[in-house]
Amino acid sequence: MTNVLEVKDLVVNYGKVEALKGLSLTVGAAETVSLLGNNGAGKSTTVGTISGVVRAGSGSVTAFGKDVTNAKPWDLVEMGIIHVPEGRRIFSRLTVHENLQIGGYTVTDGKAIDTRIKEVYELLPRLAERRNQQGGTLSGGEQQMLAIGRAMIAAPRLLMLDEPSMGLAPLMVAQVMDVVRSITEQGTAVLLIEQNARAALKVASRGYVLDSGTVTIEGSADELRADPRVVEAYLGA
Ligand code: ATP
Repeated sequence: MTNVLEVKDLVVNYGKVEALKGLSLTVGAAETVSLLGNNGAGKSTTVGTISGVVRAGSGSVTAFGKDVTNAKPWDLVEMGIIHVPEGRRIFSRLTVHENLQIGGYTVTDGKAIDTRIKEVYELLPRLAERRNQQGGTLSGGEQQMLAIGRAMIAAPRLLMLDEPSMGLAPLMVAQVMDVVRSITEQGTAVLLIEQNARAALKVASRGYVLDSGTVTIEGSADELRADPRVVEAYLGA
């Protein structure tokens, strides 16, 4: 089976800053892969390049067997490559339900949107309970779930989550990771960008550690958890 995503020898420069120096990674079908690394390692640049908002200098991005290097963001969205950026960015004055409806802007069939919203409510019952509440009044964890739920309306084939655990209490982190697990089980591949390695490696089957624009360590979640370098830098005592 072809991989959902193949990134090969990706190089990205911002002027003189070499953000990615030949990065390669793959995401298989219905797999959660974690991208770990400290601030400035190049995680956001990687996702930005895959979603077409950052230009690749060289190297390639292949999605569903098709070369999509430097493709337009809207064409990538249409292919089912959906990015939930860091910081949630939900509409705080709109209700939960309206936020979800906006997630369907690429879906022209109103009935299909309603069906997808129903599916998202099944996946995220907390959102169903709060459907008429304004987005801005939700807790941080609920807002993150809304951002993920909104992305799910577009029926992604590859969902890229940028630091979904950021700023959340441990219990909420666990709940968000449960959602990620359910999404993968439903057949959507997930690229999970996280600084919280402990949480990410609980749901991911494999992972990559980025440092200064290259992959320094890669392996199964078990291998990464057992790697002394990962333990020292990301898992602690
Ligand atoms: P963070 O978690 O802080 O976002 P990151 O791992 O996602 O970190 P990137 O944001 O991809 O890292 O940044 C990689 C490198 O590129 C860093 O050295 C950063 O300072 C630099 N960089 C990122 N965006 C730009 C930009 N627009 N202009 C110049 N340099 C940038």
